[in-house]
Amino acid sequence: MECLCVPKNEKAKNMPYQAETYSVTVDPQNPDPQVMALAGQVIVDGGLVAFPTETVYGLGANALSEAAVAHIFEAKQRPSNDPLIVHIETVAQLETVAIEIPSITQKLADAFWPGALTFILKKRPEIPANVTAGRDTVAVRLPAHLIAQRLIHKAGVPIAAPSSNLFSRPSPTTAYHVLADLDGHVDVILDGGSTQIGVESTIIDLTSEIPTVLRPGGVTLEALREHLPTVAFRPQHITEDDIAAAPGTLLKHYSPHATVKVFKGEEKAVYEAMRHEAATDIKQGKQVGILAQDNEALEFAKLDVQIVLIGKTSQAMAAALFAGMRALDNSKVDVILARAPQETGLGLALYDRLMRAAEGHIMEVG
Ligand code: AMP
Ligand code: MG
Repeated sequence: MECLCVPKNEKAKNMPYQAETYSVTVDPQNPDPQVMALAGQVIVDGGLVAFPTETVYGLGANALSEAAVAHIFEAKQRPSNDPLIVHIETVAQLETVAIEIPSITQKLADAFWPGALTFILKKRPEIPANVTAGRDTVAVRLPAHLIAQRLIHKAGVPIAAPSSNLFSRPSPTTAYHVLADLDGHVDVILDGGSTQIGVESTIIDLTSEIPTVLRPGGVTLEALREHLPTVAFRPQHITEDDIAAAPGTLLKHYSPHATVKVFKGEEKAVYEAMRHEAATDIKQGKQVGILAQDNEALEFAKLDVQIVLIGKTSQAMAAALFAGMRALDNSKVDVILARAPQETGLGLALYDRLMRAAEGHIMEVG
C-alpha cells in the first residue's frame, strides 16, 4: 500500500478539510500491523483517521498538534467551542495529557479502563487550546477496541477524536456511516465492522468536588455507583443559544433529518398515542417511520409505516439506535416515532440520545 495521507495544505481558506478518502478493512481481532503503521503515520503527518472504538467510530488527529486538530473541526463542521475527547493507550500516558490527577482517577481507571468511560481532568499546557475549546480541563479516555489501541500506539501520540460524523448527525457505528458523512474529508477509514456498544462513552467530571456524570453513556451509572457511591448525575442539555456558556452540551444532537417524537408513559397508552400520532401524520401526507423494539412491531401492523427493529434488550437497542435513525433517514421518512426506554442501566444513555434527537420534545402519555 502506498502513502495514504497528504493533508492538503494549499486548500482554500474556510473550506472544510479535503482529502482523498481511503477506506480499508481491518480485522478487529488481529489488525494488520502494516495498515496500522500507515494509519499511525497519517496521524503523525497531521491527517485524519476514522477508527472504530467499542462505543462509536472516532475521527482521530494528533492531540498535540493544533493544526491537525483544526482539521477535525473543519471536516465535521463542528463548532470550535465543542471540546474533544483525547484517547490514550495506557493509564501511564494520562500524565502526558492531564495534571493534578485526583486519586479517585486511578480507582476508576482500574475498574473501567480500557472502556467507555471518559474523565474530565485539569489539562496539561502541552494540549492545544482547540482540543479543549479553551477550557483548562481535558476529556480523556482509554478505549478497549484493539484497532483504537494499535492506532494510538503506532502514532506514538495521544489522539483527539470526537465521533466521526458530521456535527449533530447520528453518531457512526459502521465505517459506511463515516463514509456517508465524511467522504472526501478524512484521509483513512479503518473499517473494523460494527461497533459493539453503539452509544458514546460516559463522561465524568473529576475536577468538581463531587465527581459528576455530565453525559450518560456506555458505562452505566449503576456500575459507577458500585465504585463511587457519591457520584452525581447532571446531564447538560442546553439549547443553541446557551452553547457559548457550556460547550458540547447542545440539546439538538445525534439527529436524523426526520422530526423525532419520543413517547413516554405506560406501555399500552404509549402504543395508542404512537398509533394516533402516526395516523395523524399519515393523513397530512407524511411518511412515518417507527424505531421499535423487536416485540413491538405488531402494535403498528395496521399502519402504513416503516418499522426498523432495534432489538429488545437495552444493549441491543444501544447498538442499533443510530443505525436505525440513519436507515429511516435513508428511506426518506418525515417523522420518526419511538417509545422512551426505561432510564436505568444503558437505557439512561438511550433515553438521552433519543431525547436529544427529538430536541427535547418528549410526549408524556397517560
Ligand atoms: P463527542 O466525542 O463527539 O461525543 O464529543 C465529546 C464531548 O465530550 C463534548 O461534546 C463534550 O460534551 C464533552 N467534553 C469534552 N471535553 C470536555 C471538557 N473539558 N469539559 C466538559 N465536557 C467535555
Ligand atoms: Mg459526537
